[in-house]
Amino acid sequence: MNAEDGQILPPGSVIGILGGGQLGRMSALAAGRLGYKVHIFSPEKDGPAAQVSWRNTVAAYDDLAALEAFAQSVDVVTFEFENIPAAAAEILARLKPTRPSPRVLHISQERLREKRFLESIGVPVTAFREVTGAADLPAAVDALGTPSILKSASFGYDGKGQVRIEAGMDLQEAWARMGGTIAILEGFIDFDCEISVIVARNPAGEIALYEPARNSHKHHILDTSTVPAGVSVKVAHAAEAIARRIAGEIDLIGLLAVEMFVTKDGRVLVNELAPRPHNSGHWSQDGAVTSQFEQHVRAVCGLGLGNPARHSDTVMTNLIGDEVESWPQLLADPDVKLHLYGKTEARPGRKMGHWNKLTPKS
Ligand code: AMP
Repeated sequence: MNAEDGQILPPGSVIGILGGGQLGRMSALAAGRLGYKVHIFSPEKDGPAAQVSWRNTVAAYDDLAALEAFAQSVDVVTFEFENIPAAAAEILARLKPTRPSPRVLHISQERLREKRFLESIGVPVTAFREVTGAADLPAAVDALGTPSILKSASFGYDGKGQVRIEAGMDLQEAWARMGGTIAILEGFIDFDCEISVIVARNPAGEIALYEPARNSHKHHILDTSTVPAGVSVKVAHAAEAIARRIAGEIDLIGLLAVEMFVTKDGRVLVNELAPRPHNSGHWSQDGAVTSQFEQHVRAVCGLGLGNPARHSDTVMTNLIGDEVESWPQLLADPDVKLHLYGKTEARPGRKMGHWNKLTPKS
């Protein structure tokens, strides 16, 4: 069977999701509402997604036999987590429509690959240099100046594996602290703000774009996402054009979050891509006609896309670690919509839930 047979999967079909966290949970809830069944593949037993899903396979992402059995049991495969081994994505794609494709995962798994792809399609990115070892670092720092940011090229998230390089710093020590094997040095952007655009694309090539959200971070973890973002019309159009271009050029089927910096002189530079629902799109659950999770389901099942327009101004705030204990006060505000992930242990830095505060559309 050609794995791309069956472009449209009707309600009742089984969606296989790799990854068992909150993004899988909220995708599964959206899928259930549309009459789909969800089968989660995750190394974690009874995680946030498994708690609300039809079936659950507990196995490692490199357990090829388990992946094969999983693929046989579903009608389409998608992801809530992109850092899975390339061999895993290829096995899945051989057996069932896999959306987004292994190529999209491959590009977004590694910062150098991602930046080179973006450059190749004419999308502006931060200045960068490849750094393969401590010996490369002095020349890269000379080229980009200080401050600059050293990032491990793969498997980094929420600011992990990053070191800010300052003038006169011990570069050997900075390299050791970053802890990666291959790294990227990026010029420091003294940005005006950080925004993200979420784009959905279905197998027919239809595209739906969410308006930019303005993102603020606390201890390198997303704290709030606000819509409207308060950027100029020109910046919003530039950001949306970039997301649309990437979705087309990468041949996206599914959802892609594009994180961007807006510079003080109004330029929009892409920081990174995530080919799945994204924390900065959670506002859409309560503030948009169609949530990013429903859009994800529609795109990977080959349905028409829903209207992504904002109907209410929304501020999304994450609940990190023991912040989750504020749930009674949050529920006391009738204009707050609370989302909790079913995690039992509130470890520091762990995303436990979020809340959306709605106000009338401006
Ligand atoms: P990342 O893991 O690449 O998303 O980086 C995490 C956060 O670090 C970003 O959201 C920014 O706040 C900051 N950051 C990353 N790269 C740069 C850069 N080149 N210039 C300034 N700030 C950055």
